[in-house]
Amino acid sequence: MNPMYDEQNVAGARKYVQEVYETVVNRNPHEREFHQAVKEIFDSLVPILAKVPEYRQLGILERISEPERLITFRVPWVDDSGKVQVNRGFRVQFNSALGPYKGGLRFHPSVNASIIKFLGFEQIFKNSLTGQSIGGGKGGSDFDPKGKSDGEIMRFAQSFMTELYKYVGPDLDVPAGDIGVGAREIGFMFGQYKRIRGGYEAGVFTGKGIGYGGSLARKEATGYGTVYFVDEMLQSKGLSFDGAKVVVSGSGNVAIYAIQKATQFGGKVVACSDSDGFVYDEHGIRFETVQRLKEVERKRISEYVKEHPHAIYVEGCEKIWSIPCDIALPCATQNEIDEKAAKLLVANGVKAVGEGANMPSTLEAIDVFHNAGVLFAPAKAANAGGVAVSALEMSQNSMRFSWRFHEVDDKLREIMKNIYKDSIQAAEEFGYPNNLVVGSNIAGFRKVADAMIAHGII
Ligand code: GLU
Repeated sequence: MNPMYDEQNVAGARKYVQEVYETVVNRNPHEREFHQAVKEIFDSLVPILAKVPEYRQLGILERISEPERLITFRVPWVDDSGKVQVNRGFRVQFNSALGPYKGGLRFHPSVNASIIKFLGFEQIFKNSLTGQSIGGGKGGSDFDPKGKSDGEIMRFAQSFMTELYKYVGPDLDVPAGDIGVGAREIGFMFGQYKRIRGGYEAGVFTGKGIGYGGSLARKEATGYGTVYFVDEMLQSKGLSFDGAKVVVSGSGNVAIYAIQKATQFGGKVVACSDSDGFVYDEHGIRFETVQRLKEVERKRISEYVKEHPHAIYVEGCEKIWSIPCDIALPCATQNEIDEKAAKLLVANGVKAVGEGANMPSTLEAIDVFHNAGVLFAPAKAANAGGVAVSALEMSQNSMRFSWRFHEVDDKLREIMKNIYKDSIQAAEEFGYPNNLVVGSNIAGFRKVADAMIAHGII
């Protein structure tokens, strides 16, 4: 290709990205997290936009960054003292080019339109990367499940679903869990949906209990998938989990099963955390203890040291990144690794970072990792295992048949390998070898954009 022509295309693509990004910022003022997610993706799409002018001519970026639909609603409920409480519910139906909207529900006080839109936007590309027929969506509420009774959780979930049921369905929009939403919450929401619909539509939710349509290995899928992906990345450089010192932030669903799989792969996980602080266990974090404390007893991570007195508890979860490690797996929440934390990890010799949470590294932190030559596995690719097994749960519900644990786990591992392969190939093809941010964004984008073009201007 004529280099002059090529350079002109790249400059044109850059200008296009900048213009659409400015429109997004102006149209969605104050939505910092949404802007961040859009910026990360848009910037990495410059090489493909330069190569395929059709994407620009057909306004793909303008359309892909505007949700097909954003639903917000009042969620009134009565607490145990008889007081009326009001929360806000959300569902963003971002893109249905590849299939029904698919993505979790988050119950956390920080939830607002910006958080839901950043998560929904990321979900489009993540779901595309899995190779399954699922579009992108996300939802949730600013409801805080921490410290609530089972009765309060149920009343809230029923009220939430009494409104949301109008907008979801097995071929329309299929929610699942995320922060603050696990099997208990999904059970209550599915029960209320079933009651209102008057029919047993198992495929309307994923992450259901095993006894009523859930998939084996769904609970483990995000954490296992993250470790499978990082393992692929390490192996490509002749490295492995075996003997590596690992830090996993968080102690929720993603973190628990990342700890288990990293340990099974020979790694020593020395720390994990919750929003109050972290525990350091030089002998290796005991997966069974964290799982019971968090999944069954719903206690704080500080309780870990009562059972393992040699371990240390430190207040302030962000300090977890000062622990020297070979592999860091941020599995807590968005923006938990900022530039300072990233520099600290690099100074302490980190070799690989794998994002189990959604957008846990800031844009500045990602630059620090890339500039230091640290292997970096971005969330969209590395944590896609959860939603991938959700799609397998939908398949099983449609077949009215269940696979065994190892069958689902084998499929998950295959999917994670393919995501790695597709991302690394796209990175290579577009001139950014080994850059999995560019590679996964381009690989995920390409399928969605091509389907959007096939469907006409809608
Ligand atoms: N909340 C998860 C995610 O961020 C899973 C979504 C799903 O299973 O639909 O991908």
